[in-house]
Parts: sequence; C-alpha cells; structure tokens
Amino acid sequence: MKNKLSRTEAKEKIEDFFKGIKSQSPKEIKKIKKLAMSYNISLKELRKKFCRKCFNPFSGREKIRIKKRVKSTTCQKCRYITRWKVG
Ligand SMILES: [Zn+2]
Repeated sequence: MKNKLSRTEAKEKIEDFFKGIKSQSPKEIKKIKKLAMSYNISLKELRKKFCRKCFNPFSGREKIRIKKRVKSTTCQKCRYITRWKVG
C-alpha cells in the first residue's frame, strides 16, 4: 500500500475526522489511528476523544473523575478506564 497523502494532508484529514468523531465507528477510529501512526503524527489531545481499548468514541456523557491531577474517563461500552494527567 502506497501513501498518497503528504504529511500535512494526512494531518488535515485526521483533524477533520476528529471534528465529527462522535458519529464515527470504532472501525474508522482504528483506521485513522493507523494512518496517524504511519505518518508518525501524534494524536495528543485527540487521543482523549475515544476509548483506548474498544475505540468507541466518547459521547461526552461518560463518567469523568479527577483525582490527584489524574483525569479518568470510564468507557460506556467496555467499562475500560482511560486515564491521563491534567495540569
Ligand atoms: Zn471502551
């Protein structure tokens, strides 16, 4: 498989994708993550928009807890808890 996109184009594609992530399927999210990885693009903040385990997009209704500067989000689908540092 050859990559037709330039790195900038890939980045734009990823950013666009994440704007409408709530209506995306886990399959598509996996794909876009692969794309980002193949271009060595770090998702940074965008990684927080979906579950690390089942790749389901977070709807915004998840249980979010902040404790000792660690924010955790519980996935509504698989109950996996995604944690990241804040501040
Ligand atoms: Zn999940």
